[in-house]
Amino acid sequence: MTGAEADDLTVPAAAGLRIGQGFDVHRFSGDPSRPLVLGGVTIEGAPGLEGHSDADALCHAVADALLGAGALRDLGTHFPDTDARWQGASSLGLLATVVAMLRRRGLVPVNADCTVVCEAPKLAPHVPTMAERLGQALGAPVSVKATRAEGLGALGRGEGIACVAVVLVAAGAVQPTGAVQPTGAVQPAVPPQPSGGHAPGHHGPGGAP
Ligand SMILES: [Zn+2]
Repeated sequence: MTGAEADDLTVPAAAGLRIGQGFDVHRFSGDPSRPLVLGGVTIEGAPGLEGHSDADALCHAVADALLGAGALRDLGTHFPDTDARWQGASSLGLLATVVAMLRRRGLVPVNADCTVVCEAPKLAPHVPTMAERLGQALGAPVSVKATRAEGLGALGRGEGIACVAVVLVAAGAVQPTGAVQPTGAVQPAVPPQPSGGHAPGHHGPGGAP
C-alpha cells in the first residue's frame, strides 16, 4: 500500500461498531480446595481465587467488556453474588449467557483482546487453551496475553490476579429470519439507577462472583 492509498482509508459510516472494556481483580483464596480457573481453564497446582462463582476473573473481565459495549450495566447487576444460583457457577457459562444477551439485541462480538496480570502461576502454557475457550464462548477471535506486575503493589506481592479486556461488537447484525436489528441506541436491560458505585456485590465486600 502506498502512502497516498493509506491516506484515503476511511471507516464506513454504517459500520455500527461498539467498543467495551472490562476489568476484574480477585484475591487468592486461603481455601486449598479451591481450584484456579482462568479463561475457562482449570490450572492445576495453583491456589484458587476468592469469589462467589468459580472466580474466573478473565471471564468476568470479558463479560463486563461485552456488557459495556452493549450499555448493559455490569456483571454484578445480572449475576449478583447474593444469589445462590451463581454460587460456584462456571463463569464461562455466565459469559455465554452474556453473549446470548447481546445477540438478542443484534450485537455480535467481533473480537476481544485480554491481559491477565499476576506474578504466579506461569500462564504461558495455558494461554492458547484460554483463548480457544473464550473464542468459542464469543464466537469470535480472542487474544489472551499474560504479564507480571514486576513486584509492584498487591499484584506484585502475588496476592491476587487482575484481568483487563477490550471487545469490539458489531451492531445491527442480521437475524436468521432476515430481520435487521436497529443500530440505534441499545436499550439497557435494566433501567439506569442512581448508583454510588459498584453493582450488588460483584466486586464489593461480599466478594466477587
Ligand atoms: Zn469477578
